[in-house]
Amino acid sequence: MAFEEGLYEDVLKHADIVKVVSAYLPVVRIGKDYLAKCPFHDDTNPSMRISTRLNIFKCFVCGTGGNSISFVRKYARLSSFEALKKVADISDYRDPRLEGVAKTKVIDPKRAPLLKCLHDLTVYYQYALNSPEGKEGLDYIAGRHLDANLRNKFRLGYAFKDGKATCQFLLSKGHSLKTIEDAGVATPVDGVYYDRNQGRVVFPIFDNEGEVIGYSARRLGDGPEAKYVNSPETHLFHKSNILYNFHNAKEKARIAGYIYVLEGFMDVFALQRINVEAAVATMGTVLTEEHIRLLRSLNVEVRLCLDGDLPGQKASMVMADQLIKNSINVRIVDNQNNRRDPDEILDNDGEVALNAYLNKLISYVDFTLNYYLNINPLQTTEQKTHLIQEFVPVLLSIRSQLELDSYIGKLGKITGYTSEAIRNILKTARVKPDTRDYRSVIINYHPERKILRRLHIAERELLYQMLQNKEAVGFYEGNIDGFYDSTYRVIANFLIEYARNHESFVPTDLISSLENSDLDNKEAMINQISELYMERNHPACDDELLNTLEGVIKEEKERIFENDMLAHSLENKEPLEQARILADYHRRKMRGK
Ligand SMILES: [Zn+2]
Repeated sequence: MAFEEGLYEDVLKHADIVKVVSAYLPVVRIGKDYLAKCPFHDDTNPSMRISTRLNIFKCFVCGTGGNSISFVRKYARLSSFEALKKVADISDYRDPRLEGVAKTKVIDPKRAPLLKCLHDLTVYYQYALNSPEGKEGLDYIAGRHLDANLRNKFRLGYAFKDGKATCQFLLSKGHSLKTIEDAGVATPVDGVYYDRNQGRVVFPIFDNEGEVIGYSARRLGDGPEAKYVNSPETHLFHKSNILYNFHNAKEKARIAGYIYVLEGFMDVFALQRINVEAAVATMGTVLTEEHIRLLRSLNVEVRLCLDGDLPGQKASMVMADQLIKNSINVRIVDNQNNRRDPDEILDNDGEVALNAYLNKLISYVDFTLNYYLNINPLQTTEQKTHLIQEFVPVLLSIRSQLELDSYIGKLGKITGYTSEAIRNILKTARVKPDTRDYRSVIINYHPERKILRRLHIAERELLYQMLQNKEAVGFYEGNIDGFYDSTYRVIANFLIEYARNHESFVPTDLISSLENSDLDNKEAMINQISELYMERNHPACDDELLNTLEGVIKEEKERIFENDMLAHSLENKEPLEQARILADYHRRKMRGK
C-alpha cells in the first residue's frame, strides 16, 4: 500500500535512528556508532549496530536491518502505516498528512464492539452522576476536591443501585448480552445480569489512546464490600499493563521533560489539581514490561512517587532499579520523612507544599543508602556483603571523586566496612569493564573475512557500488545479464526501477521505498541492503573496477554453467561412461576451450 508522495521520506528526514531505537532498547555508544542487544534474536552480547552516519541499523548475527521505520515495524509488530506514525511521534515530527493516516487505522474487530459498549456505558454513568440518585456520588467526589473540570476530563460517573437497569440500557442501545459480559460490565447471577459497579462511584480506565477499557468503582459509605471493585480481565482490560492517564500525559511529558509515576489514579488527580499534568499511575506497585516500554517511548526522566511507607519505599527501589537497567533516567521523590499521599499533602498543607514535595528528588543511590541508613539498618554480614555487591556497578559508574568518596563513606556507615575495604572491592571489579564485549563485536566483524566465493565477492562489490551511484546501476543494466545470487538479483532489479524515478540515492530513502512496497522478499532485501551500507573500505567506483567485476561475474557464471552441464551429462551414466566424459571434459579444458 503506497503512502502519500514523499511522506515516508519526510518522516525519516526528521528521525534519528538512535533516538528511535533507544525508545525501545538500551543502547551503548561506541565511537560514532551505537550498539544494542538485538531484539530479533536471542542476543547475549550487543550485536546490533546502529549507524548515525547512515541512519540505519543492522544485526550482524541474525542479519536483521533497516531504517527507523523498519525497526519499529519489526520490534512493535506494527503495520508500515502504524510504524511510520510511531516514528513521527518519537521524533516530534508533525505533518497534516499523518492525520489522514490516523483515520485509516485498522480496527480490531474483537475490540470494536466492546469499546462501543463501554463508551455508551460511560456516558450513562456520567448521566447518572448528575441525576437525583447520583447526588451521593457527587457529594463523595466533591469531598475529594475533584471539581467539574476534572470530573469531565476523567469522565467520572455513578452506577445506579439498580444493576439490572444498566444492562437493559445497554441492550436498548443494541449491545448483545455476550458483548456486555465480554466487556466485563456484568455477570449473570441465576440468569439475571447485574452491573458489577452498582451503587458505586465509577472511575473509567483509559487505554493509551483515551478509549475507556474498564472501570475502578468505589464503594459509597461503609460496608462489608470491597472499597474498590476493578473490571475483570477482558480482551481490552489488562490491569497490570495500565498506566493511568498515559493518553493525556504523554504529550505533556515530552514538553516538560519528565513524567511522575504514581501509585493510583487518586494521586494523578492530586497532581492534576496543581496543574502537574505529566503524571501517570500504575494500578499497583509492580512495573511490567509494558509499563517500561511506554515510559521508555517518552524518552524523558521518570520521577517515582510511590507511597512513603516501607512497602512503598521498597517498591520504589525495585522500580528504579528496573528503569535504570532499561537505560531510563530516574529520580525518586524523597518521601522517607513524609508518608502522606499527595492529596493529603495538598488538602492539609496546600499547593506550595505539594509542589515542594514533588520537587524534592534524589537519585536511586541516595534513596537506597538513606533507606538502609534511616529505616532498616543491616544486621547480618550476608546482608552487608550483598548490599556492597549491589552497589559495585553503581559506584563504578560515578566519575566524580568527591561523589564517590561520599558514597563510600555512607556505605561504610551502613555496613561497618572500612573505606579501604570498599575501595579494594571496587579495584577488583574494575578489571573487566563491560565495554570490552561490545568492542569485540565490532573489532571481530570483518565481512571480507567471510569465505566468499569469487563470484559472490564480485557480485557483492558491484551491488555495493550500485547502491552508491546511478552509473553503476546503468552499467549493470547494460552489461550484466542478471546476478547469480537471487536476492542480489531482485535488489538490482529494484535499483534499476528506483534509478528511473529518483535523482539520487539516500540510504534511508532507498530502504523506505522498499518498506513502502509490497514486494514478497522485501525483508531479505532490506536486511541485505543495510548490511552493504554498513561496510567500509570499498574501492572507489570507476570504469576499471566495473569492467573487472563484469569480467569476473561473466567468467564465474560461465564456469557454473559448465559445471551444471557436466553434472547433467554425468547423471544416470555407468561409471565407465562417466570416466570417459570427465576425461573428455578435462582435455577440452587443457586446450583452453
Ligand atoms: Zn539479531
